[in-house]
Amino acid sequence: MTKFRRLYELLLESGMVKAEDVYQPVPAKRSWLELAHSPQYVQGVCNRSLDEASIRRIGLPMDEKVVGRSLAAVGGTVLTSRLALDFGIACNAAGGSHHAFSDHGSGYCVFNDAAVAARVLLNEGRVRRVFILDLDVHQGDGTAEILSGDPGAFTFSMHCAENFPKAKQTSDRDVALPAGTGDDDYLSVLKAELTELLPAYSPDLVIYNAGVDLHRHDRLGKLALSDEGIAARERAVLSLCRASAVPVACVVGGGYDMDAEVIARRHMILHREARLFADRNRLGRAGAVTSGIFPTVPGGPSASG
Ligand SMILES: [Zn+2]
Repeated sequence: MTKFRRLYELLLESGMVKAEDVYQPVPAKRSWLELAHSPQYVQGVCNRSLDEASIRRIGLPMDEKVVGRSLAAVGGTVLTSRLALDFGIACNAAGGSHHAFSDHGSGYCVFNDAAVAARVLLNEGRVRRVFILDLDVHQGDGTAEILSGDPGAFTFSMHCAENFPKAKQTSDRDVALPAGTGDDDYLSVLKAELTELLPAYSPDLVIYNAGVDLHRHDRLGKLALSDEGIAARERAVLSLCRASAVPVACVVGGGYDMDAEVIARRHMILHREARLFADRNRLGRAGAVTSGIFPTVPGGPSASG
């Protein structure tokens, strides 16, 4: 979990993000959470009254800190989505809890920040169609379940076939890649998919899960992308979305290494490419790279899948 705080520190230390570029979210409100989760589950988390089996499935101790982080991460993705609508691109420094289902959490995910953010903005009438672009190495199973049949959301997951979760859900579009897929094959499939899907759905907002657990050195992922392959992925996503002027709200997603420094630096690729893209395309400075961090909580916001 320390990766989130380290990512935030590195973004400032590197000069990539100025202090005035950082926005601080409010913790997610219950009314937001209940747009994507059952009231019983929301209450169980917030009151810390989930049963042992439910806590085991999440895989995190449900203490005050984890609950606080989970609420902050969802608040961050809601804020990031709003800022993306204002500025074109915004990046959370956390988020991507895509294994959280409507009535339970799993795989280190408590609340599904992307599904909540999509529903909040749809509910407010700020957008009519949200495209969830999930490129974490694991399938966005919780997101697929929550948003299934919702005409206001399109769920796209491109993941490794052999990774968790074993029982996959059905997204609006799933692309399951074989283990060992490297940069060139990955990028050509991604570009072909987005070139077809984005104009067909014509979203008002893309919420992008930029998980880096598809890196060849990731502890859990089974794909084989390089640092440069991930950077090329971010450039492809940003340029394909922005070519049609679609706002992009980015969340960091999964990434696993015993050394938090290594993984925080890997997540920085997203923010670096967003910064460069925004500067090249003269997007508003303030919204180019922002952050859903919650600095008052040591260790940063909640884990993501
Ligand atoms: Zn993952």
